Amino acid sequence: MFEKIYSPVDKVKLFPFDNLFAKRDDLIDPYISGNKWRKLKYLLIKAKAENKTHLVTFGGAYSNHLVATAAAASRTGLKSTAFIRGEEVKNEMLFICSLFGMNLIFTDRESYKDKPALFNKNFQDDKDAMYIAEGGASAEAILGCAEIIDELTDAHYDHIFCAAGTGTTAAGLLKGIKKNNLKTKLHVIPVLKNGFFIKEEILKYTPDSAQLLFHTDYHFGGYAKTTPELLDFIKNFIHNTGLLIDPVYTAKMFYAITDLQKQNRIQKHEKILAIHTGGLLGIFGMKDKF
Ligand SMILES: *Cc1c(COP(=O)(O)O)cnc(C)c1O
Repeated sequence: MFEKIYSPVDKVKLFPFDNLFAKRDDLIDPYISGNKWRKLKYLLIKAKAENKTHLVTFGGAYSNHLVATAAAASRTGLKSTAFIRGEEVKNEMLFICSLFGMNLIFTDRESYKDKPALFNKNFQDDKDAMYIAEGGASAEAILGCAEIIDELTDAHYDHIFCAAGTGTTAAGLLKGIKKNNLKTKLHVIPVLKNGFFIKEEILKYTPDSAQLLFHTDYHFGGYAKTTPELLDFIKNFIHNTGLLIDPVYTAKMFYAITDLQKQNRIQKHEKILAIHTGGLLGIFGMKDKF
């Protein structure tokens, strides 16, 4: 499953930028999308090495990670189970998960907080089961995300941008930047409020902050929250560039890029790479907001 990969670097025609590009991880796969494919790669290799045949993981009802895990499991002949935060709901994302054969266990918010306890209670004696953290966060995931940088044939970017939820993808990118001796600055856009803890997470894995820039003002009210301004930005962006972005992650990143240029903190002629981390299925859940 991981032999071939299609993730080109495309120019993004966005005013006023001359040299804005996107790493199209959204094109890797419609369901094992973007950074979730990157994060699962070495986890699946580990599962195989350890003879695990059942992936057990965690997420919210609109989790891109759950869809990715369900699809990856079915394609590699594994079983999959997800603990889902909150009361039972139906939506497009969970529907796709169950089509891929994922077993869905809805879990009240209190029990959901202690994920190792949930795993132990249900799978302690199951030698086939492998625990995968929420969002796929792990050392394996960081290894997979570092490969985004290895793939760049033209490495002379002034700036690389990514959206962050847990910071795992950003930690991998920073690792890749260091490994390849690039001078590029990594700009991280937390998509949730008080996202500064993410910086600590990143530095736990890659303890070097010299090239790391953190922009905590682009959460638009919090995780999965939007404002009329962000929704307008999304409509204009998609119309003008032909590139789909989602309100939860990549829209906040692209908004930050345009805003930082307006503030003169990056320049329109500089070479900029935005990591399109995928996750486009989620936009159907937000269609009523537009
Ligand atoms: C999950 C996700 C992220 C966040 O990745 P982290 O490694 O948790 O920071 C970013 N973008 C998209 C589209 C995602 O689905």
